[in-house]
Amino acid sequence: MRALVTGGAGFIGSHLVDALLVRGWEVVALDNLFTGQRANIAHLAAEHRFRFVEGDVCDAHLVDELIRGCDVVFHLAAVVGVKHVIDNPLAGMRTNVLGTANVLAAAHRHGVRVCLASSSEVYGQSEDVPFVEDGPRVLGPTWIPRWSYATAKALDEHLCFAYRDRGLEVSVVRYFNAYGPRTDPRGYGSVVARFVNQALSGEPLTVHGDGQQTRSFTYVSDSVEGTIRAGTMPAALGEAFNLGSEEEITIERLAREIIALTGSRSALTYMPYEAAFGAHFAEPRRRVPNAGKARRLIGFEPQVSLQDGLRRTIEWFRG
Ligand code: UDP
Repeated sequence: MRALVTGGAGFIGSHLVDALLVRGWEVVALDNLFTGQRANIAHLAAEHRFRFVEGDVCDAHLVDELIRGCDVVFHLAAVVGVKHVIDNPLAGMRTNVLGTANVLAAAHRHGVRVCLASSSEVYGQSEDVPFVEDGPRVLGPTWIPRWSYATAKALDEHLCFAYRDRGLEVSVVRYFNAYGPRTDPRGYGSVVARFVNQALSGEPLTVHGDGQQTRSFTYVSDSVEGTIRAGTMPAALGEAFNLGSEEEITIERLAREIIALTGSRSALTYMPYEAAFGAHFAEPRRRVPNAGKARRLIGFEPQVSLQDGLRRTIEWFRG
């Protein structure tokens, strides 16, 4: 089997590349190295079943060339991370919509199956937790730049389903706060990376708001396993799946866990949202998946507890 992984030098993408290679696949990774890092794939330099192409998903010609001859495209390339999205919403929307349009058009031309990486962010501020795939999406006003990411990802999903109706084999995965080794150490993509860094360097952990907002952190190997299942199993065709742990935790608790697991002397400091992100900011208060559909249709079952996952992540950061 041969795959193209867009965003293959990124955090989840590079773990996906590793997992596909272990299964005997040939893999091409496309990445523009905006948030992706060469270091994430450096260990594959001598792997003859792997090829890295530095380039952009917005380059339709390149995307077409790389998709031809593949069995599956795992489309993970995107501008992600709250900070990146709100710092440059235009770049985010361009990459996240145009890139997906290119991938889908090329995959449709060549009859190649697509697995789109979407996000739990598409549920927005819905209070209907735990989220089910066909539940409501509640987004705030358009002048809050954060929601441009949810909107772009939702449009990507719409594009997928429109192509499905034209005969393309597609599936969609919605990630819930994936974390683990190779998260951007600056913490752009994940509060876990940021807190671990702060705890290891003895700085205060910056808890936004009152810290009572919740997330369901999902260890990256679980996200990757679900992605491969969604991208290959017949039962996944034409469907969208929540890929997330159902273990919900407040951000304040997460901070305390990380302090305990690192043995750090750091304190918590509470930072108002405006101080962290400026005036126009909003975020989901609770984010929890109902993973029942993924469990039922593709046998998705997260294996790594938050404690274990945090331990492994901390170990990697120490290294
Ligand atoms: N957060 C925090 N301190 C930080 C970074 C993030 O308290 O230094 C909070 C953030 O406000 C959110 C949660 O941690 O409530 C998860 O943030 P992240 O950026 O990891 O992803 P999100 O779930 O918002 O997409």
